[in-house]
Amino acid sequence: MTFKEFGLDEGLLEGIEASGYETATPVQEQVIPLILAGKDIIASAQTGTGKTAAFLLPIINKLLASRIDDQVNALVIVPTRELAIQIAQNLEGLSYFTPISSIAVYGGGDGSNFTNEKQALSTGADIVICTPGRMIAHLNMGYVKLKGLQYLVLDEADRMLDMGFIDDIMKIISFLPPKRQNLLFSATMPPKIRELAKKILHEPSEVNISISKPPAKIVQQAFIIYETQKIPLVKWLLKSLNFKSILIFCSKKHNVKQLTMELKRARFNVKEIHSDLEQAAREEVLLEFRSRRLQILVATDILSRGIDIDSIDLVINYDVPNDGEDYVHRIGRTARAETDGMAYTFVSEKEQNKFNSIEQLIGTTVPKAQVPEQFGPTPEYAPRSKRSGGGGKRKGNGRRFHTGGHRPPARPKH
Ligand code: AMP
Repeated sequence: MTFKEFGLDEGLLEGIEASGYETATPVQEQVIPLILAGKDIIASAQTGTGKTAAFLLPIINKLLASRIDDQVNALVIVPTRELAIQIAQNLEGLSYFTPISSIAVYGGGDGSNFTNEKQALSTGADIVICTPGRMIAHLNMGYVKLKGLQYLVLDEADRMLDMGFIDDIMKIISFLPPKRQNLLFSATMPPKIRELAKKILHEPSEVNISISKPPAKIVQQAFIIYETQKIPLVKWLLKSLNFKSILIFCSKKHNVKQLTMELKRARFNVKEIHSDLEQAAREEVLLEFRSRRLQILVATDILSRGIDIDSIDLVINYDVPNDGEDYVHRIGRTARAETDGMAYTFVSEKEQNKFNSIEQLIGTTVPKAQVPEQFGPTPEYAPRSKRSGGGGKRKGNGRRFHTGGHRPPARPKH
């Protein structure tokens, strides 16, 4: 289906063309007409499906007719500043040939960011993309112009609940006019998301695009090894394979730092990214990685969702992520858009049950790769096959980057 068929504004169609989109993705085909028709929506869709444009396009199109000049007309709440920035960039491209204004409002910037945000929020911005904590800081000051608000979007809603943002979200909503269109996007649909939906949405249409399975075009393999074999194996893989852009995930910051140090010592072109880094440093590293000046990026799950880098050839899970959703999100960083991708997961003895839970959740047995002989004996893959084994479920244990996402490290003053 082409975008013209949705009956979108000419300027918007130009922006779509300039962004390189030719036909609508399945989520866009389903969601755009519903939003244009004024329906509230609850949609399960992974990143990489085109879900951002699925809500941005109809909102921009409707605002072109209904925007109120000195007000915030649409509010998009997201879990992390990286996602906020990415959506804002996407929006800028799509709305380039329209008069729609927008701003991303997120923590971690310096004083001038706050001033700019305050200026936009108090004089009106058509679409505001925000992280919850920062938005509340502005709302508490009383200058945010929300009377004209017509659209509320909650993106990555499951992630926001996992990060403990529920009270913040409800607080933000308490400031909004009750008559508005509400759109909720979530990678997963656990009961708590349904409860939230009941509170916020009005007779929503439900759209189910994903069942949290990784895109089929990603070639997945697992290496069943001992923990001590991980560093030698990762070095060997990086040396033997000719990949240009490699993202390595570790669940813990500590592991990210240690692995990066080891790889640097071995003279790889590698850097790290995690919540200890200041915003400017994170952006710098991302820029280097995107532009392929940096070949290898070692990251915590801070990068597992939402981040849009099209050209990653290989994702390595240096450790097994804590649940299936994280696995899907991590490996979904490769094979974005039309490209194919590879995803390797290192599974130590202790992680076998956890990995098995993930295989059950995604409904796939991940092929086990042959470990080269020089690494010596490796363990058998013999997980306890019960889902309960190995802690495959989320435990609400603070979700690794709660601190990084919600309360950013202090920035130096200028
Ligand atoms: P998202 O799921 O929103 O993170 O989008 C994933 C990627 O697909 C982003 O790089 C988008 O710019 C891109 N994208 C979104 N819609 C389309 C489309 N209709 N055609 C081609 N690429 C798209």
